[in-house]
Amino acid sequence: MIPAIRGTHDILPGQVERWQLVERTAHELCERYGYVEIRTPIIEREELFSKGTGETTDIVQKEMYSFTDKGGERVTLRPEATPSMVRAYVEHGLEHALPGAKLFSIGPMFRYERPQKGRYRQFHQLDVEVFGLHDPAVDAEVIDLAWSLVASLGIAQAELVMNSVGCAACRPKFQEALLAALGDDLPKLCGDCQRRAKTNPLRIYDCKVPADQPIIDRLPHSVDYLCEACATHFSAVRAHLDGWSIPWRLSHRLVRGLDYYTRTTFEILGQTLGAQNALLGGGRYDGLVKALGGPDRTGIGFAAGLERLVLALPEGAGALVAPKVFVAAIGDEARAEALRLLRELRRAGLSAHMELEARSIKAQMKRADRLSARVALIVGADELARGDVTLRDMRAGDQRSVPREGAVAAAREALAAG
Ligand code: AMP
Repeated sequence: MIPAIRGTHDILPGQVERWQLVERTAHELCERYGYVEIRTPIIEREELFSKGTGETTDIVQKEMYSFTDKGGERVTLRPEATPSMVRAYVEHGLEHALPGAKLFSIGPMFRYERPQKGRYRQFHQLDVEVFGLHDPAVDAEVIDLAWSLVASLGIAQAELVMNSVGCAACRPKFQEALLAALGDDLPKLCGDCQRRAKTNPLRIYDCKVPADQPIIDRLPHSVDYLCEACATHFSAVRAHLDGWSIPWRLSHRLVRGLDYYTRTTFEILGQTLGAQNALLGGGRYDGLVKALGGPDRTGIGFAAGLERLVLALPEGAGALVAPKVFVAAIGDEARAEALRLLRELRRAGLSAHMELEARSIKAQMKRADRLSARVALIVGADELARGDVTLRDMRAGDQRSVPREGAVAAAREALAAG
């Protein structure tokens, strides 16, 4: 047996229904909010992520699946969708075709992380991005969409946390203040933090090392260093959310792990998930489109982890399946007629099943039970001779004859009545 690669997982029947529920809900909600789907390749040039995700991020430094292809090109299995979305937006001039582009995408991502519950090496994300709109109402709409997704899935124990990390004008002052506050404590922090202090001091807030936490807790907060424009923007976003009664909490630690974030950052945490508790995360990245060679257009979005949404779903969610009709045949001659009836039912839009290898009627009815079929249509020699079909209500257990030509309509009626 050749086992699956560590950190990847199969989504088996029984589980896949929960995935379908999450994907269906995401599609429906995105459409309702005016977002259109885009699909980009899973492999891209490595430099798209080193530039777009950021050289100093853990993703680029440690986690990318990159290799040289047979043509000598460095390619990467995408670790996140945002740089690909930006590339497609720029490459196809979508700013003209879709001014104020509101896009979404669903698909697999790849990161070489240490696998644990809720953390995989191949995982799946719903990615939502808006380009070219800077109003705080856009931040609020994106957060509202994320919040509605979690609520629509019946995930009750969730918390929205927000922060603002400022912009190119005010962030340098905050970074200075951060380093000044660290002062003599810097050498006491972990090796990663020492590196972060040099490359991107905000990242110190991402540190999970327990011994570092008392020092980090004393550091200044980005919201106290916002320039006037950033402060006004953030207070307008908060006012929208308050006006819609969406509860949120300010988290000074939410600086996000990626280089291109500006202003609003947010996460929704699932309170039943354990250590890997972020259901989704996102924010504004006003500098990224230009940094990747495009026009100077703003960007904002979020990525939701489908594995974690599926994990957080209430028990039994997604179990609903279309009510089924089971066709049973007694004898070879009846089988041909039963197969014809099976096709008719399916062409009429009903979910219909039949044992495709000849079995006893008892075994067939057992199977109908296991499939939770609501209606069985039975065809045997007697039925053939009479030109009818026996319709059995599987719940009530009673049965009656219906004319062969009216069998599909009778099954449909019985399902509707049930
Ligand atoms: P990020 O792209 O890192 O901002 O992550 C956005 C969301 O994707 C997180 O909130 C998680 O739900 C999910 N996610 C990120 N990394 C992983 C992973 N390795 N395994 C499973 N889900 C992940």
